[in-house]
Amino acid sequence: MPHVLLLGGTTEASMLARLLADRGMSATLSYAGRTTLPAAQPIPVRIGGFGGVDGLVDYLRTHRITHLVDATHPFAAQMSVHAIAAAQCSGIAHVALTRPAWQAEEGDRWTHVADIDAAVAALEGPARRVMLALGRMHVERFMVQPQHHYLLRFVDRPEAVPGLPNHELVIDRGPFTVEGDVRLMRDHGIDLVLCKNAGGTGAAAKLTAARQLGRQVLMIDRPSLPERATLYRAEDVLAWIDHAMARGV
Ligand code: NAP
Repeated sequence: MPHVLLLGGTTEASMLARLLADRGMSATLSYAGRTTLPAAQPIPVRIGGFGGVDGLVDYLRTHRITHLVDATHPFAAQMSVHAIAAAQCSGIAHVALTRPAWQAEEGDRWTHVADIDAAVAALEGPARRVMLALGRMHVERFMVQPQHHYLLRFVDRPEAVPGLPNHELVIDRGPFTVEGDVRLMRDHGIDLVLCKNAGGTGAAAKLTAARQLGRQVLMIDRPSLPERATLYRAEDVLAWIDHAMARGV
């Protein structure tokens, strides 16, 4: 019997969980445990790290996992690297379910940086009004550029007030619309949007809003990962599971 371990934390993972449940397949969805109230899911959920590659290998064996689907966020590079290594080590089928990266369009004013360090360095200079669209993670790294006014948008209210001296915090789970993000950027006088190239539609509104308003975007490019099989639609993962089973994998 196939048993799928689905590494989640994304909309794609939730979509696949629904399809697996509809098919009556045995599957478990795994969260890192960063969000306090993850959305209810139609398949069993486990929460928390596995304890590195060895811990994941152990989990795959103990729970007789046959298919590992990595639907983590494109910036969750450590988990993805561990998934590749653990699947190889265990000899089980492994695939990534992700979304294509955003591409700049006509009218966009994007500057690309490689990572958070480069994004922090790129903010050297006079005070600006920055929409720091990185969620809760990495916010404290921007304390070394305290001259800016930062607009933060989090999914959950944080336990402690963010340490940035000059910031405003908006709590919003979305869904975000272009009209809403245009209003937000206007209301807060934003002149620069700083974000990760997450891809997908859920967080794209801010980019369209920035284009419409002629605002600059500092885009953090995706981390590079070792070669892996990659799919872009949850339906394709079901076909991949069927195919892998037909091959006896
Ligand atoms: P990461 O740096 O790649 O992972 C750090 C550690 O967290 C992993 O080594 C693993 O711990 C644990 N972990 C990560 N994802 C897990 C999962 N789905 N199930 C169980 N353990 C997991 O990941 P991250 O950037 O901190 O992201 C954490 C989670 O948030 C991911 O699941 C991701 O899909 C979601 N997320 C991330 C971002 C982002 O921008 N990075 C945005 C939205 C959602 P062990 O080594 O102990 O196994």
